[in-house]
Amino acid sequence: MVDGYTFSKANKISHTWHCSSRGMMNCKARVRIDRSNTLVCVLLEHNHPPPKYIVTKDGQYLNYKLINSGRSQLLMVDGYTFSKANKISRTWHCSSSGMMNCKARVRIDRSNTLVCVLLEHNHPPPNYVVTKDGQYCKV
Ligand SMILES: [Zn+2]
Ligand SMILES: [Zn+2]
Repeated sequence: MVDGYTFSKANKISHTWHCSSRGMMNCKARVRIDRSNTLVCVLLEHNHPPPKYIVTKDGQYLNYKLINSGRSQLLMVDGYTFSKANKISRTWHCSSSGMMNCKARVRIDRSNTLVCVLLEHNHPPPNYVVTKDGQYCKV
């Protein structure tokens, strides 16, 4: 992770790390790590804001974002979507909580930080497609 952005390698022998949003956002940012483990050739011109991350108990980084799906707003965490029971509620339940009886939920505190994360889903993440105007549709 560099400056809030995440980078990933194309393959194991490669020393170049590309922005994780390269595929989705066509971002050109990349860094290179030389043999002495020094960061070189840094191109840090992203064409998108840094992704928001939460750190789970076991040290995993998960990105999350708010997305629009029709009239309602959804919270996407690690490929799963969450929705609020009502507007004043700060707890987001897994969108499949009714259908699949999934117990996963997250909470957003007053400083917009994700807390109290229970991310144990009993189902695979749903498939979404993004339309031209940035709307998410379940497929
Ligand atoms: Zn980028
Ligand atoms: Zn779930």
